[in-house]
Amino acid sequence: MVNAKTIAIIVAAGRGARAGAGGPKQYRNLAGKAVIAWTARAFLAHPDIDAVRVIIHRDDTGEYERAMEGLLDEAKLLSPVFGGAERQDSVRLGLESIAELNSERVLIHDAARPFIDAATISRVIDSLSDGDGAIAALPVFDTIKRAAGAAIETTVPREALWRAQTPQGFGFDKILAAHREAEGKVLTDDAAVAEAAGISVKLVSGSPDNMKITQAEDFGMAELILGRKRSQMEYRAGHGFDVHAFEDGDAVIICGVEIPHEKKLKGHSDADVGMHALTDAILGAIGEGDIGDHFPPTDPQWKGARSHIFLEKARDIVADRNGRITHCDVTLMCEAPKIGPHRGAMRTALAEILNIEQARISVKATTTEQLGFTGRREGIAAMATATIALPAS
Ligand code: MG
Repeated sequence: MVNAKTIAIIVAAGRGARAGAGGPKQYRNLAGKAVIAWTARAFLAHPDIDAVRVIIHRDDTGEYERAMEGLLDEAKLLSPVFGGAERQDSVRLGLESIAELNSERVLIHDAARPFIDAATISRVIDSLSDGDGAIAALPVFDTIKRAAGAAIETTVPREALWRAQTPQGFGFDKILAAHREAEGKVLTDDAAVAEAAGISVKLVSGSPDNMKITQAEDFGMAELILGRKRSQMEYRAGHGFDVHAFEDGDAVIICGVEIPHEKKLKGHSDADVGMHALTDAILGAIGEGDIGDHFPPTDPQWKGARSHIFLEKARDIVADRNGRITHCDVTLMCEAPKIGPHRGAMRTALAEILNIEQARISVKATTTEQLGFTGRREGIAAMATATIALPAS
Protein backbone atom coordinates (compact mmCIF):
# COMPACT_ATOMS: atom_id res chain seq x y z
CA MET A 1 0.00 0.00 0.00
CA VAL A 2 1.58 3.22 -1.12
CA ASN A 3 0.34 6.75 -0.83
CA ALA A 4 -2.37 6.05 1.74
CA LYS A 5 -2.55 9.65 2.84
CA THR A 6 -5.73 9.37 4.83
CA ILE A 7 -6.50 6.16 6.68
CA ALA A 8 -9.65 5.35 8.62
CA ILE A 9 -9.33 3.20 11.71
CA ILE A 10 -12.57 1.55 12.77
CA VAL A 11 -12.56 0.40 16.38
CA ALA A 12 -14.50 -2.85 16.67
CA ALA A 13 -12.73 -4.71 19.46
CA GLY A 14 -15.29 -4.10 22.22
CA ARG A 15 -17.41 -6.78 23.82
CA GLY A 16 -20.49 -4.53 23.98
CA ALA A 17 -21.68 -5.83 27.35
CA ARG A 18 -24.30 -3.06 27.58
CA ALA A 19 -26.04 -4.21 24.42
CA GLY A 20 -27.18 -7.41 26.16
CA ALA A 21 -27.14 -10.96 24.83
CA GLY A 22 -26.43 -11.82 21.21
CA GLY A 23 -22.72 -11.20 20.95
CA PRO A 24 -20.78 -8.01 20.27
CA LYS A 25 -23.14 -5.38 18.84
CA GLN A 26 -20.86 -4.54 15.92
CA TYR A 27 -21.51 -7.98 14.42
CA ARG A 28 -25.26 -7.99 14.94
CA ASN A 29 -27.63 -7.72 12.06
CA LEU A 30 -29.08 -4.37 11.10
CA ALA A 31 -31.50 -4.61 8.17
CA GLY A 32 -29.69 -7.47 6.48
CA LYS A 33 -26.11 -6.39 7.11
CA ALA A 34 -23.85 -6.45 10.14
CA VAL A 35 -23.42 -3.11 11.89
CA ILE A 36 -19.68 -3.16 11.09
CA ALA A 37 -20.42 -3.66 7.39
CA TRP A 38 -22.56 -0.51 7.28
CA THR A 39 -19.81 1.40 9.04
CA ALA A 40 -16.93 0.09 6.95
CA ARG A 41 -18.81 0.66 3.71
CA ALA A 42 -19.22 4.37 4.49
CA PHE A 43 -15.46 4.81 4.78
CA LEU A 44 -14.55 2.49 1.89
CA ALA A 45 -16.88 4.45 -0.39
CA HIS A 46 -15.48 7.85 0.57
CA PRO A 47 -13.21 9.19 -2.19
CA ASP A 48 -10.84 10.93 0.26
CA ILE A 49 -10.22 7.83 2.38
CA ASP A 50 -7.29 5.85 0.97
CA ALA A 51 -7.39 2.83 3.27
CA VAL A 52 -9.49 1.36 6.06
CA ARG A 53 -8.23 -0.73 8.95
CA VAL A 54 -10.61 -2.43 11.35
CA ILE A 55 -9.43 -3.25 14.88
CA ILE A 56 -11.08 -6.43 16.15
CA HIS A 57 -11.03 -8.63 19.25
CA ARG A 58 -8.81 -11.69 18.91
CA ASP A 59 -11.81 -13.99 19.38
CA ASP A 60 -13.76 -12.37 16.54
CA THR A 61 -11.84 -13.26 13.36
CA GLY A 62 -14.59 -15.60 12.17
CA GLU A 63 -17.34 -13.11 13.06
CA TYR A 64 -15.46 -10.37 11.24
CA GLU A 65 -15.09 -12.40 8.07
CA ARG A 66 -18.74 -13.37 8.09
CA ALA A 67 -19.86 -9.80 8.76
CA MET A 68 -17.64 -8.27 6.09
CA GLU A 69 -18.40 -10.81 3.38
CA GLY A 70 -18.77 -8.87 0.14
CA LEU A 71 -16.35 -6.17 1.29
CA LEU A 72 -13.30 -8.36 1.88
CA ASP A 73 -11.95 -7.95 -1.65
CA GLU A 74 -12.21 -4.16 -1.56
CA ALA A 75 -8.80 -2.81 -2.52
CA LYS A 76 -8.90 -0.15 0.22
CA LEU A 77 -9.61 -2.61 3.02
CA LEU A 78 -6.49 -3.60 4.97
CA SER A 79 -6.53 -6.86 6.90
CA PRO A 80 -7.85 -6.45 10.45
CA VAL A 81 -5.55 -6.29 13.46
CA PHE A 82 -6.24 -7.24 17.05
CA GLY A 83 -7.04 -4.64 19.68
CA GLY A 84 -6.24 -4.55 23.39
CA ALA A 85 -8.03 -4.67 26.73
CA GLU A 86 -9.56 -1.18 26.53
CA ARG A 87 -10.69 0.98 23.61
CA GLN A 88 -7.70 3.24 24.09
CA ASP A 89 -5.32 0.26 23.82
CA SER A 90 -7.11 -0.86 20.66
CA VAL A 91 -6.73 2.54 19.03
CA ARG A 92 -3.05 2.71 19.96
CA LEU A 93 -2.42 -0.76 18.52
CA GLY A 94 -4.34 0.24 15.41
CA LEU A 95 -2.19 3.35 14.99
CA GLU A 96 1.00 1.33 15.51
CA SER A 97 -0.18 -1.14 12.87
CA ILE A 98 -0.32 1.54 10.17
CA ALA A 99 2.84 3.39 11.22
CA GLU A 100 4.80 2.02 8.27
CA LEU A 101 2.26 3.32 5.74
CA ASN A 102 3.45 6.93 6.07
CA SER A 103 -0.05 8.29 6.25
CA GLU A 104 -0.57 11.98 6.87
CA ARG A 105 -3.96 11.82 8.52
CA VAL A 106 -5.99 9.26 10.39
CA LEU A 107 -9.71 9.22 11.15
CA ILE A 108 -10.70 7.13 14.15
CA HIS A 109 -14.30 5.91 14.21
CA ASP A 110 -16.45 3.66 16.38
CA ALA A 111 -17.77 0.57 14.62
CA ALA A 112 -21.05 1.06 16.48
CA ARG A 113 -21.83 4.28 14.59
CA PRO A 114 -23.10 2.80 11.31
CA PHE A 115 -24.86 5.93 10.01
CA ILE A 116 -21.77 8.02 9.49
CA ASP A 117 -22.33 10.00 6.28
CA ALA A 118 -19.91 11.17 3.59
CA ALA A 119 -20.48 14.85 4.38
CA THR A 120 -19.44 14.45 8.03
CA ILE A 121 -16.33 12.49 7.00
CA SER A 122 -15.51 15.27 4.53
CA ARG A 123 -15.94 17.98 7.16
CA VAL A 124 -13.46 16.25 9.49
CA ILE A 125 -10.92 15.72 6.69
CA ASP A 126 -11.31 19.29 5.41
CA SER A 127 -10.75 20.71 8.87
CA LEU A 128 -7.43 18.81 9.09
CA SER A 129 -6.06 20.79 6.16
CA ASP A 130 -5.22 23.61 8.57
CA GLY A 131 -5.04 21.88 11.93
CA ASP A 132 -3.89 18.77 13.77
CA GLY A 133 -7.20 17.62 15.17
CA ALA A 134 -10.92 17.78 14.36
CA ILE A 135 -13.88 15.82 15.64
CA ALA A 136 -17.53 15.55 14.69
CA ALA A 137 -19.70 16.93 17.47
CA LEU A 138 -23.18 18.30 18.15
CA PRO A 139 -24.25 21.13 20.44
CA VAL A 140 -26.14 20.15 23.58
CA PHE A 141 -29.75 21.36 23.55
CA ASP A 142 -31.04 19.64 26.69
CA THR A 143 -30.68 21.39 30.02
CA ILE A 144 -27.91 19.62 31.89
CA LYS A 145 -28.13 18.85 35.62
CA ARG A 146 -25.38 17.77 37.94
CA ALA A 147 -26.75 15.45 40.62
CA ALA A 148 -25.69 13.66 43.75
CA GLY A 149 -27.73 10.47 43.64
CA ALA A 150 -31.25 11.46 42.56
CA ALA A 151 -31.07 15.02 43.84
CA ILE A 152 -30.01 17.92 41.63
CA GLU A 153 -27.02 19.82 42.86
CA THR A 154 -26.80 22.40 40.11
CA THR A 155 -27.77 23.27 36.55
CA VAL A 156 -24.75 23.28 34.24
CA PRO A 157 -24.63 26.10 31.66
CA ARG A 158 -24.90 24.33 28.31
CA GLU A 159 -23.72 27.12 25.96
CA ALA A 160 -20.19 25.78 25.70
CA LEU A 161 -21.09 22.07 25.84
CA TRP A 162 -20.83 19.69 22.91
CA ARG A 163 -21.48 15.99 22.45
CA ALA A 164 -18.43 14.35 20.90
CA GLN A 165 -19.05 11.88 18.09
CA THR A 166 -16.68 10.05 15.79
CA PRO A 167 -14.93 10.22 13.37
CA GLN A 168 -12.17 12.03 15.16
CA GLY A 169 -9.35 13.02 12.83
CA PHE A 170 -5.72 13.87 13.54
CA GLY A 171 -2.34 14.36 12.01
CA PHE A 172 -0.97 10.82 12.12
CA ASP A 173 2.40 11.42 13.76
CA LYS A 174 0.91 13.64 16.47
CA ILE A 175 -1.88 11.30 17.50
CA LEU A 176 0.43 8.27 17.52
CA ALA A 177 2.85 10.13 19.82
CA ALA A 178 -0.07 11.28 22.00
CA HIS A 179 -1.40 7.73 22.33
CA ARG A 180 2.03 6.37 23.25
CA GLU A 181 2.28 9.08 25.91
CA ALA A 182 -1.21 8.35 27.25
CA GLU A 183 -0.65 4.61 27.67
CA GLY A 184 -1.84 3.62 31.14
CA LYS A 185 -4.00 6.73 31.66
CA VAL A 186 -7.73 6.33 31.15
CA LEU A 187 -9.15 8.84 28.66
CA THR A 188 -12.61 8.42 27.14
CA ASP A 189 -11.97 9.36 23.53
CA ASP A 190 -9.12 10.14 21.15
CA ALA A 191 -9.75 13.87 21.37
CA ALA A 192 -9.06 13.57 25.12
CA VAL A 193 -5.79 11.79 24.30
CA ALA A 194 -4.93 14.62 21.91
CA GLU A 195 -5.93 17.31 24.40
CA ALA A 196 -3.70 15.72 27.05
CA ALA A 197 -0.80 16.01 24.60
CA GLY A 198 -1.55 19.68 23.92
CA ILE A 199 -2.89 19.11 20.39
CA SER A 200 -5.50 21.66 19.42
CA VAL A 201 -8.73 19.90 18.39
CA LYS A 202 -11.49 21.63 16.44
CA LEU A 203 -15.19 20.84 16.40
CA VAL A 204 -16.99 20.29 13.13
CA SER A 205 -20.67 19.60 12.72
CA GLY A 206 -21.61 15.94 13.24
CA SER A 207 -24.99 14.48 12.36
CA PRO A 208 -27.91 13.60 14.66
CA ASP A 209 -28.21 10.29 12.76
CA ASN A 210 -24.62 9.39 13.63
CA MET A 211 -25.80 7.62 16.78
CA LYS A 212 -23.78 5.10 18.71
CA ILE A 213 -25.47 1.76 19.20
CA THR A 214 -24.79 1.12 22.87
CA GLN A 215 -27.77 -0.68 24.37
CA ALA A 216 -30.11 -3.34 22.99
CA GLU A 217 -32.88 -0.71 22.63
CA ASP A 218 -30.69 1.30 20.28
CA PHE A 219 -31.22 -1.26 17.52
CA GLY A 220 -34.87 -0.18 17.35
CA MET A 221 -33.80 3.45 16.86
CA ALA A 222 -31.20 2.37 14.29
CA GLU A 223 -33.87 0.55 12.24
CA LEU A 224 -36.02 3.68 12.31
CA ILE A 225 -33.17 5.86 11.09
CA LEU A 226 -32.39 3.40 8.34
CA GLY A 227 -36.02 3.23 7.24
CA ARG A 228 -36.20 7.01 7.08
CA LYS A 229 -32.92 7.30 5.18
CA ARG A 230 -34.08 4.72 2.65
CA SER A 231 -37.44 6.36 2.11
CA GLN A 232 -35.60 9.61 1.51
CA MET A 233 -33.51 8.25 -1.35
CA GLU A 234 -34.62 8.75 -4.90
CA TYR A 235 -33.31 6.67 -7.78
CA ARG A 236 -32.17 8.26 -11.01
CA ALA A 237 -31.13 6.64 -14.27
CA GLY A 238 -28.73 8.39 -16.63
CA HIS A 239 -27.81 7.53 -20.19
CA GLY A 240 -24.57 8.01 -22.08
CA PHE A 241 -23.49 7.45 -25.67
CA ASP A 242 -20.10 7.82 -27.33
CA VAL A 243 -18.34 7.03 -30.60
CA HIS A 244 -14.69 6.99 -31.53
CA ALA A 245 -13.26 6.32 -34.99
CA PHE A 246 -10.36 3.99 -35.68
CA GLU A 247 -6.97 5.23 -36.86
CA ASP A 248 -3.61 3.55 -37.38
CA GLY A 249 -2.36 1.84 -34.27
CA ASP A 250 -1.98 -1.49 -32.54
CA ALA A 251 -4.32 -1.48 -29.52
CA VAL A 252 -7.55 0.01 -28.22
CA ILE A 253 -8.38 0.92 -24.63
CA ILE A 254 -11.95 0.12 -23.66
CA CYS A 255 -13.35 0.32 -20.12
CA GLY A 256 -9.81 0.65 -18.84
CA VAL A 257 -8.54 -2.51 -20.56
CA GLU A 258 -5.98 -2.45 -23.34
CA ILE A 259 -6.82 -4.87 -26.15
CA PRO A 260 -4.34 -5.57 -28.97
CA HIS A 261 -5.92 -4.68 -32.31
CA GLU A 262 -4.88 -3.67 -35.80
CA LYS A 263 -6.13 -0.11 -35.15
CA LYS A 264 -6.39 2.31 -32.28
CA LEU A 265 -9.21 4.66 -31.35
CA LYS A 266 -8.80 8.29 -32.26
CA GLY A 267 -9.50 10.97 -29.71
CA HIS A 268 -8.25 13.84 -27.62
CA SER A 269 -7.82 11.62 -24.54
CA ASP A 270 -7.05 7.88 -24.59
CA ALA A 271 -10.36 7.53 -26.47
CA ASP A 272 -11.82 5.00 -24.04
CA VAL A 273 -15.24 4.95 -25.64
CA GLY A 274 -16.82 2.71 -22.96
CA MET A 275 -15.59 4.81 -20.06
CA HIS A 276 -16.73 7.99 -21.77
CA ALA A 277 -20.26 6.66 -22.27
CA LEU A 278 -20.37 5.51 -18.64
CA THR A 279 -19.05 8.82 -17.31
CA ASP A 280 -21.75 10.66 -19.27
CA ALA A 281 -24.40 8.26 -17.93
CA ILE A 282 -23.38 9.01 -14.33
CA LEU A 283 -23.19 12.76 -14.96
CA GLY A 284 -26.55 12.54 -16.72
CA ALA A 285 -28.22 10.83 -13.75
CA ILE A 286 -27.22 13.64 -11.42
CA GLY A 287 -27.84 16.47 -13.89
CA GLU A 288 -24.19 17.49 -14.06
CA GLY A 289 -23.84 17.96 -17.82
CA ASP A 290 -21.34 15.82 -19.69
CA ILE A 291 -17.61 15.06 -19.84
CA GLY A 292 -16.99 18.04 -22.11
CA ASP A 293 -18.37 20.43 -19.49
CA HIS A 294 -15.91 19.20 -16.87
CA PHE A 295 -12.95 18.47 -19.17
CA PRO A 296 -13.20 20.79 -22.19
CA PRO A 297 -11.56 19.13 -25.24
CA THR A 298 -10.16 22.57 -26.12
CA ASP A 299 -8.07 22.46 -22.92
CA PRO A 300 -4.64 21.03 -23.79
CA GLN A 301 -4.17 19.60 -20.29
CA TRP A 302 -6.59 16.74 -21.12
CA LYS A 303 -4.74 15.77 -24.29
CA GLY A 304 -3.82 12.10 -24.04
CA ALA A 305 -5.46 11.93 -20.58
CA ARG A 306 -6.34 8.52 -19.20
CA SER A 307 -10.11 8.35 -19.03
CA HIS A 308 -10.24 7.05 -15.46
CA ILE A 309 -9.77 10.72 -14.49
CA PHE A 310 -13.17 11.51 -16.03
CA LEU A 311 -14.89 8.58 -14.37
CA GLU A 312 -13.33 9.40 -10.99
CA LYS A 313 -14.61 12.95 -11.29
CA ALA A 314 -18.16 11.71 -11.87
CA ARG A 315 -17.79 9.27 -8.94
CA ASP A 316 -16.60 12.09 -6.66
CA ILE A 317 -19.48 14.39 -7.60
CA VAL A 318 -21.92 11.60 -6.70
CA ALA A 319 -20.15 11.08 -3.36
CA ASP A 320 -20.13 14.81 -2.63
CA ARG A 321 -23.89 14.78 -3.00
CA ASN A 322 -24.17 11.81 -0.63
CA GLY A 323 -25.30 9.67 -3.53
CA ARG A 324 -24.51 6.07 -4.32
CA ILE A 325 -23.95 4.40 -7.69
CA THR A 326 -26.16 1.35 -7.50
CA HIS A 327 -25.71 -0.08 -11.00
CA CYS A 328 -23.96 0.51 -14.32
CA ASP A 329 -24.60 -1.19 -17.63
CA VAL A 330 -22.30 -0.65 -20.62
CA THR A 331 -22.96 -1.94 -24.14
CA LEU A 332 -20.12 -1.85 -26.69
CA MET A 333 -20.88 -2.03 -30.41
CA CYS A 334 -18.22 -3.22 -32.83
CA GLU A 335 -17.29 -6.05 -35.19
CA ALA A 336 -13.76 -6.23 -33.78
CA PRO A 337 -11.85 -6.57 -31.56
CA LYS A 338 -13.65 -9.34 -29.71
CA ILE A 339 -14.86 -7.92 -26.39
CA GLY A 340 -16.08 -11.15 -24.77
CA PRO A 341 -12.72 -12.36 -23.39
CA HIS A 342 -12.14 -8.95 -21.73
CA ARG A 343 -15.52 -8.34 -20.12
CA GLY A 344 -14.39 -9.63 -16.70
CA ALA A 345 -11.30 -7.44 -16.67
CA MET A 346 -13.42 -4.45 -17.73
CA ARG A 347 -15.88 -5.00 -14.89
CA THR A 348 -12.98 -5.29 -12.45
CA ALA A 349 -11.38 -2.08 -13.72
CA LEU A 350 -14.64 -0.12 -13.57
CA ALA A 351 -15.53 -1.50 -10.12
CA GLU A 352 -12.16 -0.41 -8.78
CA ILE A 353 -12.47 3.10 -10.16
CA LEU A 354 -16.04 3.53 -8.99
CA ASN A 355 -15.40 1.82 -5.68
CA ILE A 356 -18.44 -0.43 -5.92
CA GLU A 357 -18.87 -4.19 -6.04
CA GLN A 358 -18.29 -5.86 -9.37
CA ALA A 359 -21.80 -7.32 -9.16
CA ARG A 360 -23.12 -3.79 -9.70
CA ILE A 361 -21.41 -3.44 -13.06
CA SER A 362 -22.34 -5.03 -16.35
CA VAL A 363 -20.39 -4.90 -19.61
CA LYS A 364 -21.96 -6.34 -22.75
CA ALA A 365 -20.98 -6.29 -26.39
CA THR A 366 -22.74 -6.70 -29.69
CA THR A 367 -21.97 -6.42 -33.36
CA THR A 368 -24.31 -4.46 -35.63
CA GLU A 369 -24.55 -7.26 -38.19
CA GLN A 370 -22.03 -5.47 -40.41
CA LEU A 371 -24.43 -2.53 -40.81
CA GLY A 372 -23.52 1.11 -40.34
CA PHE A 373 -20.16 2.60 -39.37
CA THR A 374 -19.51 0.00 -36.70
CA GLY A 375 -20.41 -2.71 -39.17
CA ARG A 376 -17.93 -1.26 -41.68
CA ARG A 377 -15.28 -1.36 -38.91
CA GLU A 378 -14.80 2.40 -38.99
CA GLY A 379 -15.09 2.82 -35.24
CA ILE A 380 -16.64 1.69 -31.98
CA ALA A 381 -19.83 2.95 -30.33
CA ALA A 382 -20.75 2.58 -26.67
CA MET A 383 -23.95 3.09 -24.72
CA ALA A 384 -24.22 3.12 -20.95
CA THR A 385 -26.85 3.41 -18.26
CA ALA A 386 -26.11 4.33 -14.66
CA THR A 387 -28.52 4.12 -11.73
CA ILE A 388 -27.80 6.44 -8.82
CA ALA A 389 -29.43 6.70 -5.42
CA LEU A 390 -29.51 10.29 -4.21
CA PRO A 391 -30.94 11.83 -1.06
CA ALA A 392 -34.36 13.15 -2.12
CA SER A 393 -34.37 16.90 -2.13
MG1 MG B 1 -15.38 10.18 -26.19
